Amino acid sequence: MKIHSSLTTSEFSAALAAPSERAEGLFREQREAVYRATDHLFARLLVLEWAVLIVVALLVAPGSWPGQTGRIDLQIWLAVVFGGAITLLPVALAQLRPGAAITRYTIAACQMLHSGLLIGLSGGRLETHFHVFCSLVILSFYRDWRVLVPATLIVALDHFLRGAYWPVSIYGVLSSGSFRSVEHCAWVVFEDVFLAIACFRSTHEMRATALRTAALEASQHANQLIMDKSRDVICANDAEGRFVSVSAACEALWGYKREELIGKSCVEMVHPDDRERSRLANLEIMGGHPVTNFENRYVRKDGKVVDVLWSAYWSESDGTLFQVARDITKRKRAEVALQKTNRQLASAHQANQLIMDNSQDVICSLDAQGRFLSTNAACQSLWGYSAEELIGRCYLVLVHPEDRVRSKQVEAGTRTGGKTDLINRCLRKDGSIIDVLWSVSWSAADEILFCVAHDVTERQRTEKALREAKEAADRANRAKSEFLSRMSHELRTPLNAILGFGQLLERQAPQPKQRLHLTHLLTAGHHLLELINEVLDISRIETGRMQLSLGPVSVKVALKEAIDLIQPLATEHSIHLFVAPKNETDHFVMADRQRLHQVLLNLLTNGVKYTPAGGAVMVNCRIDDAIVRLAVRDTGIGIAPGMLPRAFTPFDRLGAEQTGVEGTGLGLALSRRLVEAMHGRVGVESVQGEGSTFWLELARTEAPLEVIAANSLPDAPSREPENANKEECVFA
Ligand code: ADP
Repeated sequence: MKIHSSLTTSEFSAALAAPSERAEGLFREQREAVYRATDHLFARLLVLEWAVLIVVALLVAPGSWPGQTGRIDLQIWLAVVFGGAITLLPVALAQLRPGAAITRYTIAACQMLHSGLLIGLSGGRLETHFHVFCSLVILSFYRDWRVLVPATLIVALDHFLRGAYWPVSIYGVLSSGSFRSVEHCAWVVFEDVFLAIACFRSTHEMRATALRTAALEASQHANQLIMDKSRDVICANDAEGRFVSVSAACEALWGYKREELIGKSCVEMVHPDDRERSRLANLEIMGGHPVTNFENRYVRKDGKVVDVLWSAYWSESDGTLFQVARDITKRKRAEVALQKTNRQLASAHQANQLIMDNSQDVICSLDAQGRFLSTNAACQSLWGYSAEELIGRCYLVLVHPEDRVRSKQVEAGTRTGGKTDLINRCLRKDGSIIDVLWSVSWSAADEILFCVAHDVTERQRTEKALREAKEAADRANRAKSEFLSRMSHELRTPLNAILGFGQLLERQAPQPKQRLHLTHLLTAGHHLLELINEVLDISRIETGRMQLSLGPVSVKVALKEAIDLIQPLATEHSIHLFVAPKNETDHFVMADRQRLHQVLLNLLTNGVKYTPAGGAVMVNCRIDDAIVRLAVRDTGIGIAPGMLPRAFTPFDRLGAEQTGVEGTGLGLALSRRLVEAMHGRVGVESVQGEGSTFWLELARTEAPLEVIAANSLPDAPSREPENANKEECVFA
């Protein structure tokens, strides 16, 4: 049983120890009560005796003192006055100071004086001497031997004095020897001895009783402390199951106050599903079989259900069921959670086992020295060894000798890095070599390497074949570009000669028919030259031999030059060529000036070429943070959606061959390569029959002069207006 922490060991010990002080107190209280009770007893007895003395003086004394009339008056006076004095003084003390020592001693002395007066009034009759012995016995009610001392002294004094000077009043004879008084006193002392013994015994018993009472009180106090401070539920129930006493913990368990619980039936609070079981357990307990660790559930006052663990026994003599219980709700919940976790663990283990058993890959664990601790059946198909053959052997025996050092190094790295992948060659049992991919992770806590080994021989072969094929393709591509480049060079020299001589012939006033032939010759020659130039440019870009000189290029200037150059062609085709909206702000892009010019010319030429007469071609420039976007939009024939993805494919004219419009099918392909070589992007949006928009984006940059100025004046304020992030700019 647990005791609440606030109940300290010393507190508990102090409660349990039978305090001698308390016993002494109880003893004194008891003795005081005896003294007071005896004082009151004597107060009443003395008054009664006084009355008896007066009656004796009136009725008995005349017979005892014949012929002495005068003496009769004296006896009455003695009975009234002296008797009154020895009665009223002790009665007054008994009322005013009950229990005090002076009261007791005075009562003892006066009681004995009453005996002496009675003997005297009776004329020394022997029978009245018994009053002395009776008085001593009654005085022993005080259980204090000391009261016998004044009483005995009074008796002795009375006997010796009156025996010597007035023997008739004490012995009823006219003369008497002193021996008679000694004999009387001896009898009194004889009785005193036994009465004193009785007083000692009685006092001893009283002290023992006080000690027992104190011990009982201490035990009850300790019990109460346990009841109040124990975390366990301690309670006693009657035969009907009603609570007789409950510890403080009962309130916490059931949510009822102590007053509400007392008299309430314990069974009422048992969970309905557990009632029958609890009833049977109760019968067993009451049949004399104590129950320990019995569990059931209760419904608290607030409706919550609590799990309780019980120990109980039935006391037939008390007709009481003593029970100690504990709230185990948390423990039960923890048990349920643990069971759930165990179930999950078991199913996870089962799943793991299934994976292990059915995996095509080897799943294994190695100890710190690299020896197999466990492996699944896949090792048989991977290495040709069974699990039993591998357990306890180092994995390095499987590794190709040339790969062992590297494998060992990777394994060491895994211990610091935690997880690594490694491909090495392994020797199968049949001597064949396979490539194995190891995924290794190191568990520092268990000092175990967990590995998954996968046969990648086929994959390695395929990858190698692919690599070789790609290298061959690259070589072929390079050879093709090289060939194109050489061919273009070789073709350009004779073609220039053809064009040159053609132009010479044209100036020599040829016949109209000859002029027509010359025009065909020159047109075809120019077309061929354009084609060769573009092929040469593309092959240069592809072989990485295109030299670009990137620097800040004014968008305004680039667009103006391109438009000026295209304007005659546009006029010839009746196309309205313009820039919109107009804006005087200039911007700079990072580009090769000549190549940007080439790209713009190509886009503008296409716009004019593929737009019917009367149409329009518009150029637009938009600034988007660090990007400048130039767009050439036309109202031409547009491109079918299915053909758009092929717009930048070399030699693909998207069916323009049938329209009679001249072209090589290389312009857009070359433009894309050039823009990308300048770290930009190019694209197209088009709606068939409505028109197309070809756009290009290039990185925005500072104007060359501003760069110089900024470098020489580092603290100069920024040139950019705050809201200049996005703007439209157009150049006339
Ligand atoms: P081409 O010398 O034939 O013009 P390009 O590479 O410049 O070669 O263009 C490829 C094809 O894209 C063109 O043949 C044409 O079919 C289509 N095209 C290019 N620009 C436009 C345009 N502005 N409008 C409609 N079609 C266009």
